[in-house]
Amino acid sequence: MEVEAVSCECCGLEEECTGEYIGGVRAYFGGRWLCGLCSEAVKYEAGKCAGSDVEEAVRAHMAICRTLKMSGGPAGRVAAGMRQMLRTASLKRTSSSTSSSSPSPRQHRHHRASALSVGI
Ligand SMILES: [Zn+2]
Repeated sequence: MEVEAVSCECCGLEEECTGEYIGGVRAYFGGRWLCGLCSEAVKYEAGKCAGSDVEEAVRAHMAICRTLKMSGGPAGRVAAGMRQMLRTASLKRTSSSTSSSSPSPRQHRHHRASALSVGI
């Protein structure tokens, strides 16, 4: 198997991957190579808002990477920042889903139900 060295168009991280894998990733991201972390972030972005296409998500992610790079540091720092971002995003997703099933709406329904029965 032939292995190629490629550098991420977003954060500049270099990876060695097989040509087949590189081709698949490039096809998915419109000819761009994105490292594993960036592609995860872009897929997350694209999946977050339904209807938004990959191209738009890639551009949004490249902007984020540029900001992270400007805040100083090598690719490792950018990757760390992105990992943090993904973790925060998944935390937010978990907390918002738990808050929707929090006891307060159930209590509210209970109060309404008891008020109704009193009214009758
Ligand atoms: Zn990257």
